[in-house]
Amino acid sequence: MTLETVPKNLKGLRACLVCSLIKSADQFEDEGCDNCDEFLRIKHNTENLYDCTSTNFDGMISLMSPDDSWVAKWQRINRFCPGVYAISVSGRLPNSIIREMKSRGIVYKSRDTSQR
Ligand SMILES: [Zn+2]
Repeated sequence: MTLETVPKNLKGLRACLVCSLIKSADQFEDEGCDNCDEFLRIKHNTENLYDCTSTNFDGMISLMSPDDSWVAKWQRINRFCPGVYAISVSGRLPNSIIREMKSRGIVYKSRDTSQR
């Protein structure tokens, strides 16, 4: 298990709009999103970083062993790597990214639960 995904400080934290992983903007820029970078390509891409992550999120869950966590199942993050996840993320993924995900057979579900 790597602890590289855990936010290094509480300033400039952003949450991924797809998987709700929370990291600092610097970490996203250096390493991309650990779960989604294959299609989000946040790594070394500031534009995608701002498009696909949000500073507007609620709640934090620290996920250490995703496989046997009921919280992880409930949040639909049990397939993701260990790290810190937001409970709700506000923001909308650009249509181009949603199309890209669709072409890979991934269904995008908004992480924004504040509207319900
Ligand atoms: Zn992600």
